[in-house]
Amino acid sequence: MPAKFILGLKCRECGRRYDLKPVHICEYDFGPLEVDYDYEAIAKAVSREIIESRPKNMWRYAEFLPLAGDPIVGRNTGFTPLVRAERLGKELGLKNLWIKNDAVNYPTLSFKDRVVSVALSKAKEFGFDTVACATTGNLGNSVAAQSIRAGLECFIFMPANLEQGKIIGTSVYGVHVVGIGGNYDGVNRLCSEIGNKFGWAFANINMRPYYSEGSKTYGMELCEQLGWKAPDHVIVPMAGGSLICKIKKAVDELHKCGLIDSNHTKIYGAQAAGCAPISTAVKKGWELFKPVKPDTIARSIAIGNPADGFYAIKNITGSGGWSEDVTDEELVEGIKLLARTEGIFTETAGGVTVAVTKKLVEQGRLPAGDTVVISVTGNGLKTIEAVMPAVPKPDVIEAKLSDFEALVEKIKDRSKAAAPAAAGG
Ligand SMILES: *Cc1c(COP(=O)(O)O)cnc(C)c1O
Ligand SMILES: [Zn+2]
Repeated sequence: MPAKFILGLKCRECGRRYDLKPVHICEYDFGPLEVDYDYEAIAKAVSREIIESRPKNMWRYAEFLPLAGDPIVGRNTGFTPLVRAERLGKELGLKNLWIKNDAVNYPTLSFKDRVVSVALSKAKEFGFDTVACATTGNLGNSVAAQSIRAGLECFIFMPANLEQGKIIGTSVYGVHVVGIGGNYDGVNRLCSEIGNKFGWAFANINMRPYYSEGSKTYGMELCEQLGWKAPDHVIVPMAGGSLICKIKKAVDELHKCGLIDSNHTKIYGAQAAGCAPISTAVKKGWELFKPVKPDTIARSIAIGNPADGFYAIKNITGSGGWSEDVTDEELVEGIKLLARTEGIFTETAGGVTVAVTKKLVEQGRLPAGDTVVISVTGNGLKTIEAVMPAVPKPDVIEAKLSDFEALVEKIKDRSKAAAPAAAGG
């Protein structure tokens, strides 16, 4: 049914059209290809009421997604909570702060479940029998898990030194996992060569135009959850720079189709200082980024040569937003701040986003009364190495009431000792 809304693929540079095929780059200028839709037809076919009447998953926006038929995987993916963050807001000085929480996305606890649901469903439509990806962790988790339900052979290529949660969270599904020396950018280069030779569906390479459309549902949901309103500001972690572009595209498409009244949202990109090609370019006023060699514990967003970096810069500056980066220490503080104020445990990428939001407030970029959405894109249980040294160890006692009573006295002393310091600082 949704197929009738798709016009084909279109080069983002020269506008040339291509048929719906597993291709991602324009033959003439190497521009990236993007799915193009008949927005007039979509506007006639959907309304707020129609979308609201549908099941609470990402496919409630099916008209905006590039499948010819029904999805093959991902029917339970999306429509994650948009959480009002009053306690974090108080701490940061923001009165209207929200967390869009994809740390609880289905089935593998990151926003990548959205893009993979589209990529694997589309790979099935194209008739592939093998899917693969180059991954910084979360993508591999999701391609592996969803390949099982899609009945596809699966190869995952990842830097060999990723966090245990990301490695085990892939290999547990019994798919082929290949660890590669060096960082993600080398893995990605190798995967382009493998893709050409083996003719597989690489979720984030030849399937990229379809994959990336899945990210739009994150942006569409948060607008719907705000009562069909675009937020004033949204802060987004950036790896390849795809998600941030697609959140902007989502707001624009909802606006174009009459589902929201305004698309004024300012878009902010968040990176780790140890891998900040995009935020460096924004801060220096460059149109192009310089590739870097990543050196950060925020592995899930450690891409030194971001495929959509150029467009991320354009979307950020074009929207009137900004980009910042934070150190590994600051991102760990960001993880802990979110945990102790909102009870949400995010991974390193979320720590980056929270810490960047704090920085943006300090720079006066986020007025106190504006609607601000922080993108939490992944789950903290996958990157416990990052916080292990920074969280207190449990008190260990024998199973005796007297031991516990002694501990209670110790805890009282501890908080007495901490109180004056807290009051002073
Ligand atoms: C992949 C990823 C991102 C960013 O993805 P891009 O679309 O490549 O910019 C953000 N957060 C997490 C947790 C991710 O895994
Ligand atoms: Zn082109």
